[in-house]
Amino acid sequence: MKKPGVSFAQPRPLIRWSVHAAIVILLTALTQIGGLAWLAAMLLSRRFRGTRRAIAVLAMFVPLYGLGSALASVVAPVFGRVPLPCLAEQGATMHMQSMLYCVLNRQYVVPELKTAALALSAHMNSSFPGTTTLTLDGNFPFFDGFPLLPHLSHSDGRKLDIAFYYNDVAGVFRDGETRSPLGYFAFEQLREGAASPCEGRDDVVTMRWDLAALQSLWSPMALEEKRTSEAIRWLSDEGRAYGVAKIFVEPHLAERLGVSAETIKFQGCRAARHDDHIHIQVSK
Ligand SMILES: [Zn+2]
Repeated sequence: MKKPGVSFAQPRPLIRWSVHAAIVILLTALTQIGGLAWLAAMLLSRRFRGTRRAIAVLAMFVPLYGLGSALASVVAPVFGRVPLPCLAEQGATMHMQSMLYCVLNRQYVVPELKTAALALSAHMNSSFPGTTTLTLDGNFPFFDGFPLLPHLSHSDGRKLDIAFYYNDVAGVFRDGETRSPLGYFAFEQLREGAASPCEGRDDVVTMRWDLAALQSLWSPMALEEKRTSEAIRWLSDEGRAYGVAKIFVEPHLAERLGVSAETIKFQGCRAARHDDHIHIQVSK
């Protein structure tokens, strides 16, 4: 006799395949290889049915995704990408701000960009001993033109975001810490009389999110201006020898930090704000 109340285990095929398709698309958009791992898990769990199959897919997905991610780091150099350091290691001056970036395979860049970022971090640590430089989104391990959402331009391994440096409320530098959990979206607000080229615009299609509701949730830290301005200055000066061709910084922040150079640019009013992190890109 059939048990009542477990109908979710036998959804109609169309619904079931739509759910799997949505999961594959989401995992691919988030991690590049996650969708493939999901498809492989589905294939390997064919002999199960209903709830048991759903559990089997989930149970197989995790190790398959882990294996795929490990393989990606070995194969990525064939595609011209290398991974940035994920973990804080003894004596190292740079690592990803959160392991989540590495879990999602978003720590890949072209070798010359890795060299530039490591040179920046070495400079920062020699100028301010005990300073770790934290990296944010880079790119996925494979293929040019594969977008790293929600970024508009991180699709060729030549772009990397770097976290700001922060002080605590007492004005003491907090090495390896950021205001927001992932280093993004803790915007530096405009000060009285500061440059505000986007003021008064009412763009319908825009990625210039202010995320006002989130701002009070972040840690009450303050931008460490000396380190942040020195990092931008180095990138726009010595960084050029490493191929750094473009640095996005919001105009009001560049003004406040006293940095200006041909390579320090404003990304425009329809792209994401750049007063919560530094975006750099290396030329071809
Ligand atoms: Zn960026």
